Amino acid sequence: MVLVLEQRDKVLVEETLRILGEQDPLACYQCNKCTSGCPIALVRQDFRPHLIVQQTRMGLKDVLIKEEAIWYCCQCLKCVARCPQKVAPYEVIFALRILAAEAGYSPKNITKLLQSFWNNGMVTTPMIIVTKDFAEVTRQTLGLPAPVVDTEGLRKALKTTKLPTIIENLKKRKKVSKKD
Ligand code: SF4
Ligand code: SF4
Repeated sequence: MVLVLEQRDKVLVEETLRILGEQDPLACYQCNKCTSGCPIALVRQDFRPHLIVQQTRMGLKDVLIKEEAIWYCCQCLKCVARCPQKVAPYEVIFALRILAAEAGYSPKNITKLLQSFWNNGMVTTPMIIVTKDFAEVTRQTLGLPAPVVDTEGLRKALKTTKLPTIIENLKKRKKVSKKD
């Protein structure tokens, strides 16, 4: 990846620190312990938590929030346990996801999930399972009641958060990209 100096965003560290609380990406000394223990880094060459932290320190907001890589983390928290500093790449990655969503960048599935939560109060609709005999099993066939969600109350509560703005931004969805 070619880094362009104009892409540096001097307030990125401040923005991530605002979300992070106790963690401090500036304390990272690039020992690589996070990446060497990360299960996603094991299978994806383009996911390197220590580099994400480094790019955050460098203020490369424009690069980071537009890339799909920040959405690969499976939240196993191994990097939190392994980091000898108060950095916790998981937390940094999560802060970057918030900044990305606020700016209107997220993978298509995440956008769908947030919209579903806003519309129905559920991140996904109840599943229909097909058995090995090709019978469809639903909540109804199992005699379970349909889920009841107070969507009005939920939306009232959500309006006190940034979610409505995030959803509006995501509707104008800007594509996230994969690294070369
Ligand atoms: S383990 Fe912590 S200090 Fe080491 S590279 Fe990762 S974030 Fe930086
Ligand atoms: S929390 Fe995310 S970044 Fe950290 S080790 Fe697990 S998958 Fe990797």
